[in-house]
Formats: sequence, structure tokens, C-alpha cells
Amino acid sequence: MKAMIDKDLCIGCGVCPDICPEVFQMDGDKASVIVDAVPVPQETRAKQAAAECPADAIILEI
Ligand code: SF4
Repeated sequence: MKAMIDKDLCIGCGVCPDICPEVFQMDGDKASVIVDAVPVPQETRAKQAAAECPADAIILEI
């Protein structure tokens, strides 16, 4: 699974790195993805981060 952030939508709330720091980090006032592919053990939390993102800025590709 691949994760991407739509930086135009991201409001920099910090929720995604809180939920899944293995995949997301804050990069200034926006989040960014730190892995090319989401490791299988982190897939559930990456999905949770996408579901809880208040701006719907996280895109997951299976
Ligand atoms: S949860 Fe969404 S809005 Fe918040 S930092 Fe992550 S991508 Fe940005």
C-alpha cells in the first residue's frame, strides 16, 4: 500500500504522525510521508490516520 498527502488540503493538525509515526511526519506546517510503501504491520494505523484526518488529505493506494 502507498500513502500520499495532498498538501493543498493538509491543515497541519498533526493527527497522522500521532497515529502512525512510522509512515507520517510533520514537515514544517504540513505532513509528509516518510516511506515509499507502507509496511504491512503499519497498514491498519495508516488507514486509521486517513480516516481520522480532518481534511481528508491522506490518499491510500492499494
Ligand atoms: S491528519 Fe490530515 S490534516 Fe492533519 S497533519 Fe495529517 S494529513 Fe495534515
